[in-house]
Amino acid sequence: MAISFDTNHEPLIGKTEQLENDLVVITADNASPMTFTGTRTYILGTDNLIIIDPGPDSEAHLSSIMRYIGKRKVTDILLTHSHIDHSPLSRQLKLKTGARIIGFGSADEARTSFMKKLSSSLDLGGEEGIDKDLLLDEKVHEKQILKLNNYSIEVVHTPGHLSNHICFSLKERKILFSGDHVMGWATTLISPPDGDLGSFMNSLEKLSSRQEVIYYPGHGKPLKEPRKMVLAQIKHRRDREEQILNSVSKIPRTPAEIVDDVYVDLNPTLKAAAIRNVLAHLIDLYERDKVSTDKFSQTAKFSRSNEN
Ligand SMILES: [Zn+2]
Repeated sequence: MAISFDTNHEPLIGKTEQLENDLVVITADNASPMTFTGTRTYILGTDNLIIIDPGPDSEAHLSSIMRYIGKRKVTDILLTHSHIDHSPLSRQLKLKTGARIIGFGSADEARTSFMKKLSSSLDLGGEEGIDKDLLLDEKVHEKQILKLNNYSIEVVHTPGHLSNHICFSLKERKILFSGDHVMGWATTLISPPDGDLGSFMNSLEKLSSRQEVIYYPGHGKPLKEPRKMVLAQIKHRRDREEQILNSVSKIPRTPAEIVDDVYVDLNPTLKAAAIRNVLAHLIDLYERDKVSTDKFSQTAKFSRSNEN
C-alpha cells in the first residue's frame, strides 16, 4: 500500500492555535513548496514558557510570538535543527526575553565519518538552508533529560534530515516534537552532506520502537497515528531504493535521470529536492557496495555494482 500524506492544512498564519491545555502552536508566514504551510512554532507551559523552533527571521512571526507571550517569562528555546526556517528567530527572541537557546550542535556536528570523508574531498553541493549564524547556550545529547520548568523532556537524537536533528519527547504524556524528521504532509528532504539517508533510516527505526502516540511536527498537522507513519516511511524509502537500483541496473544514470525515471507525477518545483534525495540514496547504496561510480557528484553517472 502506498504511503498516504495529509496535505489538507489551512492554519491561520500568525494566530495562536491551542493544542493542549499547556501547548499552543503559531504558524509562521513562510509557506512554500519546501516548508508546506509554514514553520510551526510550539509554545509549552502556562506561566513560564518554553518555545520549540522559533522559526525564520520574520518580523511578523516575532510579533505574533511576542503578542502571545505577553508578560510571561520565556525560560528556554529548544531547536530541533539548524535550518533557516527553524532556528534564526531564536536570536531575536533571546534578546527580547533572555531565554537560553538549547540544541544539539552545529549542522555538521554529527556527520558520519564516511560523509565527512566524502564532503571534504568532493563537491556534493547541498548545504542549502543551513542557519550559518546558529547560536547555542547549551548543547544536548542523545537520551539527555532536560528538567525545564515542570517538564521533563527527553532528547531523541534523530540525524538524517540534518545530522544535528533532535526530537523532544514529553515522555509521560507520550508526545513527541518531531521537527522535520517525521511529518504528515511529505517525507523530509535529505540533502547530502548534511542529510544522510543511512542515518535517517536508523532514526526512523529508533522512533518505531518508541511509545509516543502523537507527534507535533515542524510543518503541517499533528500526527495522530505516528507509528504507522514511521513504518510507512521506512517502507517508502526501501521501495525507493529498489526503484533506484532497478533504474541503474541496465544503464548508468545521473541522479537527475533517475528522478525522471522513477518519480511519477513529480511537482516540477520539487525536482531539485528529488535529485538531492536520490543522491542521498546513491551515497548510502555506494557505502553498501550496491552502486558504483567513477567520480562522486550530483552530475556523475551511477551504475549497479556486480551482484554480491
Ligand atoms: Zn529542516
